[in-house]
Amino acid sequence: MTKVVDYINSSKETLFSFEILPPMKGQGIQNLFNAVEPLMEFKPKFVDVTYHREEYMYKKRENGLLEKVALRKRPGTVGICAALMNRFHIDTVPHIICGGFTKEETENALIDLQFLGIDNVLALRGDAIKTEARFNPLEGGHSYASDLIEQINSMNKGDYLNYEVENAFPTDFCIGVAGYPEKHFEAPNFNVDLEYLKKKVDLGAEYIVTQMFFDNKKYFEFVKKCREIGITVPIIPGLKPLSTMSQLTVLPSIFHIDLPCELVAAAKACKTTQEVRQVGVEWCIEQSKELKQNNVPCLHYYTMGKSDNVVKIASEIF
Ligand code: FAD
Repeated sequence: MTKVVDYINSSKETLFSFEILPPMKGQGIQNLFNAVEPLMEFKPKFVDVTYHREEYMYKKRENGLLEKVALRKRPGTVGICAALMNRFHIDTVPHIICGGFTKEETENALIDLQFLGIDNVLALRGDAIKTEARFNPLEGGHSYASDLIEQINSMNKGDYLNYEVENAFPTDFCIGVAGYPEKHFEAPNFNVDLEYLKKKVDLGAEYIVTQMFFDNKKYFEFVKKCREIGITVPIIPGLKPLSTMSQLTVLPSIFHIDLPCELVAAAKACKTTQEVRQVGVEWCIEQSKELKQNNVPCLHYYTMGKSDNVVKIASEIF
């Protein structure tokens, strides 16, 4: 399969890509296929599939005691990648996270991906689970995305964990990483965050995908700062159309981003969710047009499982 950087390097045009979430546990894959199908018209080069780590919940046992059980609400990232490749003949980019994985489990997941012919991964740390105040790696797991990149890179050189494997087959993963135009919320300041981003690139990340942003100035400023400190890899802007009134507060609280006054005012003037969705689409079209005019390598859309609004945007842009 083709690597994300090869798609970017071989195209003079801005590419189209999007991210999907695995369905909730117990749901079939058909709804996902139905959401992806209309987007295929715009010839996406790759589809990202997010990974969701386990959460813990307390279940009451018959004797009245509480039992802590692990629950993975959205399993299936690797299987979904394979299913999308099979159904739509498209490259997929599974997200691989540190949280909840030992290095051995990570290695096994990467071996599965390699067997499936999936050569792209987005390497991430993941967030703290709800019951933890801050991110804690598993014992024997990675603390930062940069550690995960080192492991993937070792496998790309044929170095597997713990033991000598004779004539080891080197993997050939193209590694993408996350970047934050409005700073990662845990970083003490923007410059420190950028230094760690540079470290990820120096260790082998070949491109960056940004957190969503609603003000293009933030992206342009971010790219400028990255270039100033010597980050030269492609920086793919990640865009999400606003789609409900509640997202005016939910998005800033989850993703630690700002929403521009003009967008908030336009959304607040809406009387129905449908109207908010339309405002979100129009805002995202304007963002996309300006980014495309500035020759960004790719426009990457966060669908959050529903694609009708991204279809409207893509039909204006691609
Ligand atoms: P890192 O790069 O490890 O950075 C985390 C923090 O530590 C930052 O504050 C950074 O400045 C600092 N830092 C980095 N390296 C070091 C170091 N070596 N020493 C000290 N400090 C350091 N989450 C999921 O669970 N599943 C997903 O599928 C998913 N997909 C995402 C896709 C994109 C495009 C983005 C932008 C985010 C995604 N996330 C996902 C969320 C992501 O996991 C969180 O934002 C997480 O808090 C940070 O991940 P990271 O890979 O950026 O971490």
